[in-house]
Amino acid sequence: MEPLIKVYGLKKYFNMSEGIFKKRIVEIRAVDGIDLTINRGEVFGMVGESGCGKTTFGKTLIRLLDPTSGHVLFEAPMDLIERLEGMDDGGKWELVKEYDVARFKGKQLKALRRKMQIVYQDPRTSLNPRMLIKDIIGEPLKVQGLAKGEELRRRVVDMLYKIGLTEKHMYRYPHELSGGQRQRVAIARALITEPEFVVLDEPTSAVDVSVRAQLLKLFKDFQSKLGLTYLFISHDLSVVEALSDRVAVMYLGKVVELAQTYELFKNPMHPYTKALFSAIPIPDPTVKRERIILKGEVPSPVNPPSGCRFHPRCPHAKEICKEKEPHLLEVRPGHFVACHLYGG
Ligand code: SF4
Repeated sequence: MEPLIKVYGLKKYFNMSEGIFKKRIVEIRAVDGIDLTINRGEVFGMVGESGCGKTTFGKTLIRLLDPTSGHVLFEAPMDLIERLEGMDDGGKWELVKEYDVARFKGKQLKALRRKMQIVYQDPRTSLNPRMLIKDIIGEPLKVQGLAKGEELRRRVVDMLYKIGLTEKHMYRYPHELSGGQRQRVAIARALITEPEFVVLDEPTSAVDVSVRAQLLKLFKDFQSKLGLTYLFISHDLSVVEALSDRVAVMYLGKVVELAQTYELFKNPMHPYTKALFSAIPIPDPTVKRERIILKGEVPSPVNPPSGCRFHPRCPHAKEICKEKEPHLLEVRPGHFVACHLYGG
């Protein structure tokens, strides 16, 4: 498969003031060193509890947030990526700087907006309530200078039909539409510039079950027609399973497990993934699965635990887990786990 995005050591920290006089500055490590590849045309799922850094990762990937450090190569040629593998840090990032989204500025960054888009969780807050639907959908084309006048109108109408709405919705405001229709408008706005890559950030969690199924179908249809690549972020494991080709599990700013969807759901290996997946209901009443209840709360990303970040909650933690951080290791073909139980 051809990589569309290669992520190397991506970090995003936020500074926050703390204490009575807000004098103490603390660092929130929302994303803390992620390496992964998203292949062209795939749906890459990302799961984890709220606050684990999934959304921050998605926004940093497409430069809605500036990374603290790390590199994100977008559409870099395969031979260049292969050359990077054997190089030391010295000059290697200079070699790929024209593909490194983390270093883009000005015009390069503006042009990137056309190719990388995002659909947010709740269209009630992501759509401007004072704009007509036609202006909301057409705005990215205007801002990018891609269409105006009759051409702009034609493309907006065309997109409305593609998302299952019609011309009559053009002169309505977001509050005049249902929740599912509003999310369709958000999808239309993201796709009107014909991007290569779209972050879907919990796109179905604000709608009911029947609308969810329709939206998932819409995502699939667009993917096959337009050859899109998605990063699909969700805490809803069944939705991720239905849509994704591969899935990464995040815990406190790190990826702890990554595999093909079928393999991950059939054979989760990391203790955190096992606990997370044990909560998925099984439709067959004759099959029983033991629910694993984790002790304690997710620790603060301000001061994450030493060694393996999961050790205070892990039922298998050993002494080494408190001291040494495990790294992602390929334990089966295409199945990566960061855990000392598997030598990571
Ligand atoms: Fe548990 Fe240790 Fe594995 Fe972390 S490294 S998940 S604490 S066994």
